[in-house]
Amino acid sequence: MIDLSEVHLTVDERESIRLADLLGMSHEEAGKRMGVSRATFGRIVQHARRAVADALINGKAIKIEGGNYSLIGDKRIFICIKCDNSWEEQLGTGRPQNCPACNDENFYRIRDKE
Ligand SMILES: [Zn+2]
Repeated sequence: MIDLSEVHLTVDERESIRLADLLGMSHEEAGKRMGVSRATFGRIVQHARRAVADALINGKAIKIEGGNYSLIGDKRIFICIKCDNSWEEQLGTGRPQNCPACNDENFYRIRDKE
């Protein structure tokens, strides 16, 4: 993913496209499913489609944000304070309990790997 521009979709926006475009639901029906009004759903899906169109036409990557979804940059890196061990965890697996090398609980997360 070098020099590839990104468009950002929220998890809700992604879900709106799934419901409306993949499953073919009406805005009314899809809004109910997501717990929002028809008008709100309309705004969400409009924004989502615009982002997807931008990615499609201009060759950009789509990044899903929020929740546990991620298409790129899906690794987290932790560093142990005690033994200086560093390791990677997949996104969405929760915070690890202990350092895998020394079992200490004092570690911190550094910025996500590109
Ligand atoms: Zn350690």
